[in-house]
Amino acid sequence: MENLQAIETEKNGLNAHHEEHFETIAVRTQSERTQYQEHSVPLYLTSSYVFEDSEDMRASFAEEKERNIYSRFTNPNTSEFVEKIVKMESAEAGYAFATGMSAVFSTLAALLNSGDHIVAARSVFGSTHGLFTKYFPKWNISHSYFDVNEPETIESFIKPETKILFAESPTNPGVDILDLENLGKIAKKHDLILIIDNCFATPYIQNPIKFGADLVIHSATKLIDGQGRVLGGVTVGREDLIREIYLFSRNTGPALSPFNAWILSKSLETLSVRLEKHCENALKVAGFLEEIEQKEHVKYPFLKSHPQYEVAKKQMRLGGNVVAFEIKGGIDAGRRFIDKLQLCTRSANLGDTRTIVTHPASTTHSKLSENERLEAGITDGLVRISVGLEYIEDIINDLKTALKN
Ligand SMILES: *Cc1c(COP(=O)(O)O)cnc(C)c1O
Repeated sequence: MENLQAIETEKNGLNAHHEEHFETIAVRTQSERTQYQEHSVPLYLTSSYVFEDSEDMRASFAEEKERNIYSRFTNPNTSEFVEKIVKMESAEAGYAFATGMSAVFSTLAALLNSGDHIVAARSVFGSTHGLFTKYFPKWNISHSYFDVNEPETIESFIKPETKILFAESPTNPGVDILDLENLGKIAKKHDLILIIDNCFATPYIQNPIKFGADLVIHSATKLIDGQGRVLGGVTVGREDLIREIYLFSRNTGPALSPFNAWILSKSLETLSVRLEKHCENALKVAGFLEEIEQKEHVKYPFLKSHPQYEVAKKQMRLGGNVVAFEIKGGIDAGRRFIDKLQLCTRSANLGDTRTIVTHPASTTHSKLSENERLEAGITDGLVRISVGLEYIEDIINDLKTALKN
């Protein structure tokens, strides 16, 4: 499907046991060497591939052979990136997309039919909410939202036409945690396809398939790139479902560019070391915020004060790089605080080497009514910090100075 024959874990000095370790998968899964014996994987900027003869071409199009035909279908760089995520998430197969949103859209569009229904956690990414509310109704696909803090209500939203259970954990921007094992059980009991947008955790921190997810989606734009350079997305999981998603995408064209795949595959080589540091810094920022008097509360999965701390510890290796806190004084205080930052940047991205601070109520979620905002867990003074890789004291001093003013 994604030309697996071109992907061979480098055998030099490796045995099967080592191939299972995350760091080794990240570094050593790579496309087959060319005759030039390059050490680092080359960039395959080619839109198409050539055939030996008409029989080769016929067999390739008939899918009797696994090989590259056209880069909208597969490309060596894209396949390498997908294969890494497949292994990291213990999935069966995968497909890579131009953006996280094209991964979300194509995955859902490939699997849903007119009349189907989705049950989702209310705090989904803004554009995913846009799909559910603005576009899917055009195709007679409906949804119901459950509250992340009321997981006991999930089953009450399931109808005979419900096909998909969809959630993110940790959520954006509230950093709430959903119990993936519980979602897995509900999906199994009601024969639903469980899809987890695992963007905030990355495959290093959390593997939803182990808890019963059928498909896992990532926006690779965030921590997987990790340096704020390129957009990308990927869906991995059950082979039969990926087959549907692949065929849909092959026809509709949301493919990841080989250049971005090349960048993202290289980024994965350092994902574990970057995340160790991101999470160490985030825990320190969360600890600092717990001590200040200008806050109402702080949310970070690995703080004991987090309402779902036990669940976070069960399903996450580390707490992630996003910390949320509620500043006293609402919208005005939130805006004043981000205006006073000197080092941390005001930007819409997250998961960058650079610490990014946002105030959702006055920016990303300002178009929602106050009621809609509150339902999505976005209070007026909520500040989201995507903690970067700067020297920790420099980050904390910047926050401290901005809070003083
Ligand atoms: C950013 C993000 C997306 C969308 O990804 P893009 O690459 O920006 O299209 C989807 N889900 C979550 C949770 C995100 O944070």
